[in-house]
Amino acid sequence: MDFAKIPLWGYYGQMKQIYLDNAAATPISGSSLRAVMEAMRKFSGNPSGIHKEGRSARAVFEVARAGVAESLHARPDEIIFTSGATEANNMAIIGAVKAARAGGILNPHIIVSSIEHPSVLEVARNLERENVRVDYLPVDSSGLIDTRELRKLITAETVLVSIMYANNEIGTIEPIADIAKEIRHARKTNESVYPYFHTDAAQAANYLDINVLRLGVEMMTISSGKTYGPRGVGALFVKRGVRLNPLMYGGEHENGRRPGTETVALAVGFAVALKEAQKMSAKESKRIKKLRDTLAVKILKKVMGASVNGLPATAVYRSKGAVGRWQAGNLDQCLPNILNISFDGVESDALVLYLDAVGISASGKSACKNSLGATSHVILAIGESADGSPELCLDTKLGIKHSEQSGAVRFSLGRETKSEDISRVVGELGRLIPLLRGMQINSN
Ligand code: PMP
Repeated sequence: MDFAKIPLWGYYGQMKQIYLDNAAATPISGSSLRAVMEAMRKFSGNPSGIHKEGRSARAVFEVARAGVAESLHARPDEIIFTSGATEANNMAIIGAVKAARAGGILNPHIIVSSIEHPSVLEVARNLERENVRVDYLPVDSSGLIDTRELRKLITAETVLVSIMYANNEIGTIEPIADIAKEIRHARKTNESVYPYFHTDAAQAANYLDINVLRLGVEMMTISSGKTYGPRGVGALFVKRGVRLNPLMYGGEHENGRRPGTETVALAVGFAVALKEAQKMSAKESKRIKKLRDTLAVKILKKVMGASVNGLPATAVYRSKGAVGRWQAGNLDQCLPNILNISFDGVESDALVLYLDAVGISASGKSACKNSLGATSHVILAIGESADGSPELCLDTKLGIKHSEQSGAVRFSLGRETKSEDISRVVGELGRLIPLLRGMQINSN
């Protein structure tokens, strides 16, 4: 295969593509890539083999496991390697429910937040079809859950609570340690080993504390492809003693919890990337947050009818010279790299395509159920809480029809984002938004 023939960047000329979709996938770091390649070259044996090749592959694989465990302040036997966060989330939820049923809880109950990734929400919906009772914990207009509401939902049948560490669309950071405390309290009251607390930390590992002891979780999902490691590997932290049944059968790998020949080189690359991400975390968080805040303020100043979704939801810039507010204070409960923003009357897919055409990669989802494109359950959930309506598509007082096609665009910054990128993005948005609004009006 000739990779050189595959068109990679920019439709027009040689302009540099500005990649602002790091929440979807991060490029692999140089050191992680080198570690993967070296491990692939040197350790090609099956770690289950008792011969020399097998033993050395096993040894390096266990070093990788210990490395991941160290980043999480966990013990190596508490790490199960998976294919990514989707599998880890499935494993945590379905595995816990299966084990609880096997242990005699015939009608288990689980609680998940309403803004979870589909790899949690869809699992929950499917379990409902198998007579598992599910509660979907609502969030406020910032995307935050309320621990008091959670307390009300926990019953003697509750076997699992799954609440994400940081949201992938709007960046909201949930109060994980407080939730864990609430759940410990429930266990004590019910004199039960349940409920367990699982958190999906796929978006958190680059910027937040992932020390499982400090967080107090029983299970935690992480993904290599979001932390500048190779794609195709992730892990589930499972605290010693947690009852978890496997989802697949066919081998005794990963302590009988996840069969299949181990992906040695990817695990090695993952361990390297995770360690590096944690080491860079404080400095990168500060740098990226500054860039993200500048991006937000500049967009809000330049483009009328733009509003930020999620924690900085107080930021609404109405029009030139009119109301402009940006409360940076509450951004501490938002990942430093995510900015989710809606432009009145502009359909997100169209904007994402136009941005791509001028060399900017972002991602977008509609905020409206009746849109042709994908609907964001997260934007709907925070909108529901904000105005009691499931639709965010309201007319504004801007004189612009807030079209039913209005949506949310996510800019997610990363290690490669530079300050000059911010100016270019703002400039292009200032040019494209009026253009797209013009098209919208003409087509009505
Ligand atoms: N959880 C969250 C919060 C995510 O952002 C993602 C990826 N978008 C996933 C789970 C799924 O990750 P993976 O691609 O590693 O399966």
